[in-house]
Amino acid sequence: MGSRRRAVAGPASVLCVGQATLDHVLTVADDLVVGRKHAAQRHDVVGGGLAANAAVTVSRLGGAAALASVIGDDETGNSVLAGLHGEHIDTGLVQQARDVHTSFSAVIVSADGARTIVNHSPAELLVHPCPDLDDVACDAVLVDGRWPAGTSSALSLARRRDVPGVVDVDRSAVDAAVIATCFDLASHLVFSEDALRDLAGTPSPTDGLRRIARDTAAHVSVTLGARGVLWFDGDDVRSLGAFPVDAVDTTGAGDVFHGAVTLALAEGADEARAFAFASAAAALKCTRPGARAGIPNRIEVDSLIDRSPIAREVAAT
Ligand code: ADP
Repeated sequence: MGSRRRAVAGPASVLCVGQATLDHVLTVADDLVVGRKHAAQRHDVVGGGLAANAAVTVSRLGGAAALASVIGDDETGNSVLAGLHGEHIDTGLVQQARDVHTSFSAVIVSADGARTIVNHSPAELLVHPCPDLDDVACDAVLVDGRWPAGTSSALSLARRRDVPGVVDVDRSAVDAAVIATCFDLASHLVFSEDALRDLAGTPSPTDGLRRIARDTAAHVSVTLGARGVLWFDGDDVRSLGAFPVDAVDTTGAGDVFHGAVTLALAEGADEARAFAFASAAAALKCTRPGARAGIPNRIEVDSLIDRSPIAREVAAT
């Protein structure tokens, strides 16, 4: 895979920057009724957060993953760290803020598969400063926009090192100051459909990409769930359909997509190939339950790409 050359041999390294949480997932047998008491059939405690899930993706796909994030110095924070270590992620830049609770979500999955999520992220985590990243070496940076200081420091680092600086722009990260920083500093902006619609002010993703491209020098793209991905190549809007799979749980598909696309760019792939690789990784995730448990490994992704006419089409362009 590749068009850009990397200076150093070995696995490509990606610094993921942003949110790390712990999710308590309660599965109930009936439909959720607000105000009523329900008995859960299952209770799963799983690591979550956009940047953290993307870092797990990078690691499972054979990259060297590091995470920069702020969590609390509580038991929840210790569990988050243990989960990251279990996935071989470098946590040297994960700070444990004193006397602050770690970001935490209660997720209720009801009989029809719908998810009701209640998240608590203390404001102290969001305003926490970012450590000095000057000495951090990496082949690409991915930010989820949830941590303002981390976002600007990491994208500046990517610029200085002349490596891809990718932003996952989703609706909840649409803070005007953070967006302005991302438009200025990022090399790649990957929008969710909702965020693109809100920021571009049009329901058409194609028109939205064209409008956004006028305001930034970054490469702009949008993921459209089972409808795949669109990107603006400087001239025209191009598209890649999603891999046809039997989806059982699409939670975390976006996080996997962003982690995988950043790893592929770090390895030197051009955008079309990076999107094909990320689409395959995200599609495989959709065939398995659990945002983090369902993240595939490299052999599985490469094998899906080898078997796919969609990916062969991209490779031929
Ligand atoms: P986000 O949650 O960030 O908005 P999306 O829902 O757009 O992310 O999904 C990201 C990517 O995951 C899509 O571009 C696609 O490649 C893949 N994906 C999502 N849902 C499916 C699905 N049902 N089947 C196959 N691939 C999917």
